[in-house]
Amino acid sequence: MSARICPKCTTYTELVGVKVDDALTVDRCPGCRGAWLDWDELGPAHDLRALIPGLVSGASVMKDQAHGNCPACSPAIVLTRIPVGAFAVDRCSGCEGVWFDGGELGPMLTDQGFAALLKALRSSF
Ligand SMILES: [Zn+2]
Ligand SMILES: [Zn+2]
Repeated sequence: MSARICPKCTTYTELVGVKVDDALTVDRCPGCRGAWLDWDELGPAHDLRALIPGLVSGASVMKDQAHGNCPACSPAIVLTRIPVGAFAVDRCSGCEGVWFDGGELGPMLTDQGFAALLKALRSSF
């Protein structure tokens, strides 16, 4: 399995797997604190809010306006910006994984925020 590279950092930064629970490991960028979730990791089986303490930190860097390429399936695919409330997440049209900038995770993973996220993702294709 090849390394996954942060889609937002302009320097080459490999994502690091962060174990959330027995079934879920999320790819984090140690540089900008963003997180990549594969599509199946966004499923309702996981309590994504459990991610918040580990994922949200003061070191989060907003790279909302930056365009990135998919770290998971093909670097040739440019991620699509999907507005969710005040933020936008970046989604791959190939593998349907989603990139969250570090600062986007907190507000999005409340009950309301997560519902809005799923709605936006479902209606985006
Ligand atoms: Zn990064
Ligand atoms: Zn992809």
